[in-house]
Amino acid sequence: MSSRGLNFGAGPAVLPEEVLEQIKADLPVYQNSGASIMEHSHRGKVYMAVHAEAIANTRKLLNIPEDYAVLFMQGGATGQFASIPMNFLAAGQSADYVNTGEWASKAIAEAQIIGAVKVVADTAAERPCRIPAVSELHWTSNAAYAHITTNETISGTQYPFIPETPSPLVADMSSDIFSKPVDVKKFGLIYAGAQKNIGPSGVALVIIRKELAQRASAKVPKIFRYSTMIENDSMYNTPPTFGIYVAMLVTRWLIAKGGLEGVAKINAEKAKKLYEAIDGSSFYKPTADLSCRSSMNVTWRLPSEDLEKAFVKESEALGMIGLAGHRSVGGIRASIYNACPLKAVDALVGFMRDFAKKNS
Ligand SMILES: *Cc1c(COP(=O)(O)O)cnc(C)c1O
Repeated sequence: MSSRGLNFGAGPAVLPEEVLEQIKADLPVYQNSGASIMEHSHRGKVYMAVHAEAIANTRKLLNIPEDYAVLFMQGGATGQFASIPMNFLAAGQSADYVNTGEWASKAIAEAQIIGAVKVVADTAAERPCRIPAVSELHWTSNAAYAHITTNETISGTQYPFIPETPSPLVADMSSDIFSKPVDVKKFGLIYAGAQKNIGPSGVALVIIRKELAQRASAKVPKIFRYSTMIENDSMYNTPPTFGIYVAMLVTRWLIAKGGLEGVAKINAEKAKKLYEAIDGSSFYKPTADLSCRSSMNVTWRLPSEDLEKAFVKESEALGMIGLAGHRSVGGIRASIYNACPLKAVDALVGFMRDFAKKNS
């Protein structure tokens, strides 16, 4: 395929075409600076301006209050699975976690290496996949923090609400950050691996209430301490400059699109079209419960695995990329992140109709 396909991959995922064109224009020389952005010192004024804009754009998009810091860290979202308990789960304490699927399970397993975890609700094994209702969440009053995964990328489920928790709420938003407005004040810490809705893999975005960072145990190595990152504006060591530069371009693109309200409208329309295509046919079976279907990862099954294989194969012949479900669950998954255009969803819906007609 020599031209760009219609990319429904779960991550690393599609980036806005305008952003890719800008990257191309910025190579091999970034804005008359004599070098590409990758080759500039992270302490020099050329890169520092990029870094500052990535943070400013993130603040603007999410309307982040002054008492929160915006950090770019390394190690992806998985690194945060470890950093969070290392910083905040001291001996004698316990942290609340909600187990909603594979990603929440991984966060839990990592926290258990550091300290005590209380799983306050567990729907990970339920089918259809679902997020627990508010009434099922029995938070501990004195937990170190409460952790949720706002969008389960593999299951295709998403919280339709933000829980009220007695301890600081920590959220893995890797696969739905920037997809709609969020009230940051409800959270102590938000984190996201970049490769779904922010930029290339290798960067993790962290939004943290500064006061919370001060509570960290002194035993945490400096590099993994949020307070170190805050004090050094994410430049305690060399940051992943190219990834942050792309995140700056993506956030600039989001602002030009009308910010998160504008983006959320388009995302809702894309999801509606796909779910209508699934619900309107007895051939396709959704795998997520109606109460909590994701607007980012749409998951469904066909009558047999052979038909699923044929579906993926034929979609590829039409230029569609990444529709096979996660290897752990099978089925079909269409990831429709911010950069996936409406026209890609229209093409997929058309193909689904034709495929169902031909095979039922
Ligand atoms: C992709 C993903 C991760 C893992 O991200 P890495 O950057 O690979 O560590 C964690 N949580 C969720 C919800 C994800 O979608």
